[in-house]
Amino acid sequence: DGASSFVREHAGIAAAEKDYGQTAVVANFSCEQAHSNTAFQWFQGGPVLALLPLPGRQTSMIWSLPHGEAERICALQPERLCRELEAASRHVLGALSLITPARSYALRHLSARRMVGPRVALAGDAAHVIHPLAGQGLNLGLQDARLLAQTLLERELVRDPGDLRVLRRYERGRAEPILAMDAMVDGLFRLFGSGSSAVSRLRNAGLNLTDRLPVLKNILMRHAMN
Ligand SMILES: Cc1cc2nc3c(=O)[nH]c(=O)nc-3n(C[C@H](O)[C@H](O)[C@H](O)COP(=O)(O)OP(=O)(O)OC[C@H]3O[C@@H](n4cnc5c(N)ncnc54)[C@H](O)[C@@H]3O)c2cc1C
Repeated sequence: DGASSFVREHAGIAAAEKDYGQTAVVANFSCEQAHSNTAFQWFQGGPVLALLPLPGRQTSMIWSLPHGEAERICALQPERLCRELEAASRHVLGALSLITPARSYALRHLSARRMVGPRVALAGDAAHVIHPLAGQGLNLGLQDARLLAQTLLERELVRDPGDLRVLRRYERGRAEPILAMDAMVDGLFRLFGSGSSAVSRLRNAGLNLTDRLPVLKNILMRHAMN
């Protein structure tokens, strides 16, 4: 039931929350040039702009910005928003026109202390919320659902599906992959948010190297797609 989970709260499961200091502005646009099913992302020294392909000549903007700047972008007239986005995205998709009003989401990190309790299992954002920069939040939730279903299917016949011993197997199975993804996304957020020129040189060298090593690139892609 999502990040503000009623179930989590009423099961008495505590969660650690942290404000990312950013709000994501989301809107859909039609674009002049074909996106060829390519997702574009620009790291702007803190803010992150993504243009994700939608069917046809349409694209979805996710622009994570400091709260005040997000408020300004969200309040822009459609024409003005399109021009700012075209400039920020270096005109990769040509002229843009707004097709859905801009909406904003304050970004926070959340980590539930437990994923299970007696007759309760949390999955998805109810258990963990990460920054959208890697586009992995939904995937993590789907992986939770898969392991939970598998754990329940494989339980001993004598055990009730709500048995805490059964549910703990699910929690144990998810702990490491969630921690790894959380650390990776947090690391990227810090790496791309750093204003230090040494960090930025190191980061660009790392990205260029990864781009030139198809084997490493494929491993990373397969890991992200699970
Ligand atoms: C700006 C932004 C961009 C993102 N981009 C990506 C991306 O590119 N790729 C990606 O993988 N992830 C992305 N994410 C993350 C992704 O949206 C979430 O991880 C995912 O939606 C979580 O799914 P969920 O089902 O756990 O929770 P939710 O999507 O929040 O769904 C929970 C549902 O439960 C309902 N609900 C709540 N309480 C109750 C109740 N008491 N009774 C009945 N129903 C209830 C809510 O109405 C809601 O429909 C993004 C997130 C944000 C904020």
